[in-house]
Amino acid sequence: MGILHLEIVTPEKVIISQDVDTVVAPGSEGEFGILPGHIPFLSGIVPGVVRFKFQGTTASMSVTTGFAEISADKVSILVDSAEKAGDIDIERAERAKERAEKRLAERDKEDIDFMRAQIALRRAITRIKVAKKSS
Ligand code: ATP
Repeated sequence: MGILHLEIVTPEKVIISQDVDTVVAPGSEGEFGILPGHIPFLSGIVPGVVRFKFQGTTASMSVTTGFAEISADKVSILVDSAEKAGDIDIERAERAKERAEKRLAERDKEDIDFMRAQIALRRAITRIKVAKKSS
């Protein structure tokens, strides 16, 4: 099998840049999996988990919103933010989840941005999921 390089980049920094065997990512049209030699494509990325395997070890990262560019030997994911499991503050994510749930419960009030609260909730749930899986 050929090589596959994974890069996860935020506006602040390169979070991951390493060779991998496979990548699974949360695309805007659904989760997609990549092996070396994949045909090139572009996808939106929605808040969720990026999983990658390298030499038998699987790792997970929480990502928020952005884009992915796939070519035969590279997966580039550019997102607003991304955290490795060990860097996630679970209590902070729990607080963000509670805030988002409270906003969604008050959805009848017209000043609530429903979509924004839903996306914030998804970010928080994903962070909690990734952090708890690794602990
Ligand atoms: P909060 O309301 O707690 O800030 P958020 O979902 O609005 O959560 P983001 O705007 O997605 O936060 O992220 C802002 C920055 O904070 C990013 O750099 C992100 O990596 C980091 N971040 C957000 N939540 C957590 C968390 N629970 N643990 C670690 N880093 C986090």
